[in-house]
Amino acid sequence: MKCTQCNMGKYNQKKTPYIFLGETIGVFDALVCNHCGETLFESAASDKIEAEVKNKGLWGLRARTKVSEVGNSIDVRIPKNLVQFLSLKKGQEVIIEPIDKNKLQLIVN
Ligand SMILES: [Zn+2]
Repeated sequence: MKCTQCNMGKYNQKKTPYIFLGETIGVFDALVCNHCGETLFESAASDKIEAEVKNKGLWGLRARTKVSEVGNSIDVRIPKNLVQFLSLKKGQEVIIEPIDKNKLQLIVN
């Protein structure tokens, strides 16, 4: 089967590590392009990956939150599971920077 990404290489079946949010979730069956490295995890692997991501508490870290006003500044609440994942502590200094007009990046030192 020709690679759908580069249209030059072909896929080989290969045990491939799946990394999510910087953590290795496991090694799973995947098709990997021998030219560009495009990786397609098989559907049975996808189910195992989802289960393991949930098991590691990494599922659902994307959240909707509200902006509120505190004095002259704006406050954005970060949900508890995200606070734990980032190991944020009260009073800790972080860096925030805009990525574009719709995205804000928070960097934990
Ligand atoms: Zn390719």
